[in-house]
Amino acid sequence: MGENILDYTLQELEESIIELGEKKFRAAQIFPQIHDRNIRNFDEFKNIPKELSEKLKSKFEIRYPELIEVRNSSIDRTKKFLFGIPGTNEKIESVLISEKGRNTICVSTQAGCNAGCEFCATGKMGFKKNLSAGEILAQIYTVTREIGEKPSNIVYMGMGEPFLNYDNVIKSLKIITDEKGYGLSSRKITVSTIGFTGKIKKFAEDLTSVDNKLMRNIKLALSLHSTDRGLREKIIPLSKINPLPKIFEELNYFYKTTKNKVTFEYIYFEGLNDTENDIKRLTKLVKMFPSNINLIPFHPIDFPMGAPLERYSGKEFSLSKDKIFDFIEKLKKNGVIVNLRNSAGVDIYAACGQLAGRNQK
Ligand code: SF4
Repeated sequence: MGENILDYTLQELEESIIELGEKKFRAAQIFPQIHDRNIRNFDEFKNIPKELSEKLKSKFEIRYPELIEVRNSSIDRTKKFLFGIPGTNEKIESVLISEKGRNTICVSTQAGCNAGCEFCATGKMGFKKNLSAGEILAQIYTVTREIGEKPSNIVYMGMGEPFLNYDNVIKSLKIITDEKGYGLSSRKITVSTIGFTGKIKKFAEDLTSVDNKLMRNIKLALSLHSTDRGLREKIIPLSKINPLPKIFEELNYFYKTTKNKVTFEYIYFEGLNDTENDIKRLTKLVKMFPSNINLIPFHPIDFPMGAPLERYSGKEFSLSKDKIFDFIEKLKKNGVIVNLRNSAGVDIYAACGQLAGRNQK
């Protein structure tokens, strides 16, 4: 297999074009055709001599994951895309959430994940593969083609932990925000992580580096789910080596460095993480630096979950609306900005925590 040209930043492409004995400006002609116009065949490139197309073919491929299936939710306008990664047996999923005139694409950064979070179907698969920058971008370009326009938002919240595939994630962000290519505003992008000490700080520094000016406003979301250290360590095992106090310190640094607000993702487990103490700790937390909470109803997964979540396993867990609204009201009374996220695509296993990279007909 040739190298995947989707993996190349503009600067890398310029270097390769020069190595092929061509002028640097050719890279700027090729780059938008790959990343913005979504052309998938070298022979269809405009303004490129035939000889250059042949040279490109000798070194590169335009390699997209195979689109295996698109599933449509019957309860809302969510679509789930199942892809096969060429040359492997691995599958990944992306989700398109369309609501209130906005299209959000949720992309995967790994096939599987070794973080083992108790509530997450991807975590139950184990780690299969880090996706290259091109494999991350190809999901976005395929869904863009499906909707016929650029999305309102892109969230790195699909399968995998972005910070465990850090370099490829950063590269994909650099390419997607490049104005000479797809040119997505960094304000429209959110990266979500369970939190790794050292990586949040590095992310802040990368976003503010002079080489990455177009990435400056990318937002960060922390999958928090509990402010109780013991409980969080049970449901997110890697938080044992990435303790909350250290993560909060780095989030504070992230805000001070980037001036970008932080979002806390909080799956609501009725009777588990909705106590008065949770409300007190969350209130204190959001006052440390500008931040808000996205409250996510728990979505059932068809994998067994261990303690302390086993009581939510193996059944269509139904949420008590009164209790979740009461929790939200109490937080709001304390001045906390809290938004209830809906369960888009829950019937096709496309909602938060449900992606498992397989056909589920
Ligand atoms: S929640 Fe994220 S980090 Fe945790 S297992 Fe799932 S994909 Fe991995």
